[in-house]
Amino acid sequence: MQHGVDQRRRFLKGAATALAATIAAPRLGAFDVAEPAAKTAAAKQAIPDQPVRCVQPFALNQVRLLDSDFTQAAAINRRYLQSLPVDRLVHTFRLQAGLPSHAAPLGGWEKPDCELRGHFSGGHYLSACALAYASEGDEALKTRGDELVAALAACQRPNGYLSAFPESFFDRLSSGQKVWAPFYTIHKIHAGMLDMYRHAGNQQALKVATGIGDWIVRWLNGFSDADMASMLKTEYGGINDSLYELYAITGNERYRDAAHRFDQASLFDPLASYRDQLQGLHANTQVPKIIGAARRYELTGEPRYRRIAEFFWETVTQHRSYATGGTSNDEFWKTGPGDLKGQLGLYSAESCVAYNMLKLTHHVYSWNGDPRAFDYYERTLYNARLGTQDTDGMKLYFYPLRAGANKFYNSPTGSFWCCTGTGAEDFARFNSNVYFHDGQDLYVNLFVPSELHWAQQGVMLRQETRFPREPRTRLQLKLAQPASFALHLRIPSWIGAGAKVQVNGETLDAFASPGSYLSLQREWRDGDRVELDLPMHLHTMPLPGDDSQIAMLYSQIAMLYGPLVLAARLGGQGLTHAMQYGGYSTGPEPEPPAQPALRITAATSNATDWMRIVSADELRFEATTRTGTQPVAPLNQIYGERYAVYWLNDRDASADGG
Ligand SMILES: [Zn+2]
Repeated sequence: MQHGVDQRRRFLKGAATALAATIAAPRLGAFDVAEPAAKTAAAKQAIPDQPVRCVQPFALNQVRLLDSDFTQAAAINRRYLQSLPVDRLVHTFRLQAGLPSHAAPLGGWEKPDCELRGHFSGGHYLSACALAYASEGDEALKTRGDELVAALAACQRPNGYLSAFPESFFDRLSSGQKVWAPFYTIHKIHAGMLDMYRHAGNQQALKVATGIGDWIVRWLNGFSDADMASMLKTEYGGINDSLYELYAITGNERYRDAAHRFDQASLFDPLASYRDQLQGLHANTQVPKIIGAARRYELTGEPRYRRIAEFFWETVTQHRSYATGGTSNDEFWKTGPGDLKGQLGLYSAESCVAYNMLKLTHHVYSWNGDPRAFDYYERTLYNARLGTQDTDGMKLYFYPLRAGANKFYNSPTGSFWCCTGTGAEDFARFNSNVYFHDGQDLYVNLFVPSELHWAQQGVMLRQETRFPREPRTRLQLKLAQPASFALHLRIPSWIGAGAKVQVNGETLDAFASPGSYLSLQREWRDGDRVELDLPMHLHTMPLPGDDSQIAMLYSQIAMLYGPLVLAARLGGQGLTHAMQYGGYSTGPEPEPPAQPALRITAATSNATDWMRIVSADELRFEATTRTGTQPVAPLNQIYGERYAVYWLNDRDASADGG
């Protein structure tokens, strides 16, 4: 989220149907409602996607997570969502609608005088409830979401307008007056309603979303393309994306045409010509627009929009991202592609950018099936998402990367940042990209304990692993009857020597290259077992653009173990609660003291002689720095202490080449 000028400164300071009887009964019965919803009256005219995907995702309710760090994090997130009562969430909407409300107002960006009010309470919160229901079967959150939809519907004006702030904010937008980001907020509400319809079968939510769409269509009438170009300079979230989705659901072309009007030529044209002109742009303002472009391609087949999305994905993930998968510094892309020198800050890697980049990866991967997409996805998931929540469900805004920084979380009801909202959604959908299919074959992309119920093919697959605390995963098939298909196992780019695969206990002769798929094509039978070894080893990633005078030597490097970014544990001395939690209402946040990067001496760019594995099971490591040994842990497990991700390799350039 791009802050208003004053706020920004202050912060910087401071489908399941019944399975065949021979397959173990899935725990899915309660979730069937989500599927029929999409096949009801509104969907009769639904617009199917163009046949542009080579692989398809599974519905959220077809994949159930088994116990792991992901399920624990998801449970914490759900508890936090449950702690927020509907009457407080809907308070500012009721005030705006002239309805009585005596609830205690929420704080931060939900305060009754904040120009973004409603973005979390009437938007992200609904999406999170819908996702938690579809992914995890959380009936209580579905009920909570249903109550909130009904309460918000009562606040919707006859012309379709629904917001916690007045329509006059849009007059300010169209007349060039200062206003924070009205379409950004409307997008969150619109998307929340559409998620409650798609994932939780709430028909009233579709009605509300249709009303919002109608209001947008009418509001856009009369504005020229030049007017639009001017207004699009103000952050508008992914309103194009939600309008395309409404078009797909209803088949009403006016929503598609309205979405087209949010095409921003200054952003899209260079990308369509494979030019990275992102320097100087606010990062998270752009990613949702690109997700909208991706959705346009899927619905219309226009190749321009695939180029825009694919090139954007390529340049951001390959040339603008830290080792963690995060991107941005002080919320902006301040440098050219391939150059992150000087960009390790206290406000690096805004969390919701990583969230949105994972959403974009979901689209782009489905078109090209490139396993590299999941090298990025996995690295970002473990390093830029999983460790962004504390044990009470509070979320990070930034993911600081300057040595000596600590994690800084929102407060329960006094912050409601963009990253609070996207985090609440993300931690409710960890099951969403573990598996894909192409109608015939199955793709295993993530090593996350889970059960896949592929009812259409009579296939159930159970994946059991303690990964990354063990370097292997085990898959077992349950089949109604023998079936011929290929099981494509992702072989990560980080995989070490000695990898192998066993089918029913027999080691196969063949394997596959790192960064590709190992394809097992055979007639599978009920009970067949596959065990995939995933040897993990220490490896480095340089900070792009920070190479020294000597080729192959980099002064700033991150160390990874498999997909996990490792960080030096610098202790929690002097860290107070106020230095780790806050919101706008609590005043400027204290800045962590800057600390020089930890200096190590590596003989070559890939040397690991300065880091050793203390315990692979417990993911404990130790570095030898210029000043002594240093305990090291995965970044996603560091809480309540300072850390350093990048190490300074100050090997004397005049020494002999290693
Ligand atoms: Zn954010």
